[in-house]
Amino acid sequence: MIPTPPSNTVDFDAAKLQRLGYASRGQRLLKPVSLAQLRQQLSLQLQTSLEVDRILDLFFREVQRLVPLDALSYQLAARDLRIELGARANHSAAYRLSHQGEYMGELTFRRNQRFSDEELGQLESLLASLLFPLRNALLYRAALQSALRDPLTDTGNRIAMNQAMQREVDLARRSLQPLSVLMVDIDLFKNINDRFGHATGDEVLKGVAAVIKGSLRNIDMVFRYGGEEFLVLLANTSREAAQMVGERLRLAVMGLQHLEQGQALDLSISLGCATLLAGESMDSLQRRADSALYVSKREGRNRLSMAG
Ligand code: GH3
Ligand code: MG
Ligand code: MG
Repeated sequence: MIPTPPSNTVDFDAAKLQRLGYASRGQRLLKPVSLAQLRQQLSLQLQTSLEVDRILDLFFREVQRLVPLDALSYQLAARDLRIELGARANHSAAYRLSHQGEYMGELTFRRNQRFSDEELGQLESLLASLLFPLRNALLYRAALQSALRDPLTDTGNRIAMNQAMQREVDLARRSLQPLSVLMVDIDLFKNINDRFGHATGDEVLKGVAAVIKGSLRNIDMVFRYGGEEFLVLLANTSREAAQMVGERLRLAVMGLQHLEQGQALDLSISLGCATLLAGESMDSLQRRADSALYVSKREGRNRLSMAG
């Protein structure tokens, strides 16, 4: 029997947009509304997304049905969030947002004309509709971010690594730019655990990760590949440049002073470096960096080897 398709279909996107007043695309709906109506509509609309950008974008657009604005900016530095909508303007009204003692960022309305007291009162009232959607979006963003990070070393985890590698390999191919990876493995790390215990081992891992992160450019990405191994992804970086970066990392880790029970730990890393070849897959690139790392281990550790 051929299954019959369901006869009733609800297009949630179209249905929701219609209910919220977007009858058709391209139609501007900036007709003035009362404060109470706008608050009600805002609370419905802002529920439709869990993305901070999208929520602020909707808020910016909708608020203007009552109070004309030139720009809206939002920032939460502790979470690396900065969103600018519209153009710059002379006058501003800034609000620190917080809920139950938790700081949720600063929101600034801007306009070339002064805000009247009545308008400021309206803006403050509309901000109440933003509170819970924004809080939920911040929680969602934090959850997404932590799902991609290694909690011990605060580097990317394997999920993040695979995503980033695939993205960078595709990008390097399309833009014909070089891409290099470094595989990094702490030397004789098992000895540290054996001599001083796992808690010290963990501290050393964190310290090495911090040194690696501190020695790279902002756009370089560090991932915890496994136990005491890291992968560094160097976008737009040639073989020669990657070799220099790897050498710099090696020296930085050697310079790391870690005292334990009055004894200085001799820390070092071994590295393998590979640069993407034409038509090469992400897996092959990673395998070549890994083989180069094993050459470094075999040849005595605390060194960098370049993949052939
Ligand atoms: P090599 O120079 O050949 O790499 O020697 P190694 O001792 O570093 O290598 P090996 O693979 O024998 O040991 C790695 C050790 O890393 C073993 C494991 O117990 C330890 N390790 C892995 N993950 C963690 C972690 O999260 N915390 C701690 N403290 N130790 C870890
Ligand atoms: Mg290892
Ligand atoms: Mg090791």
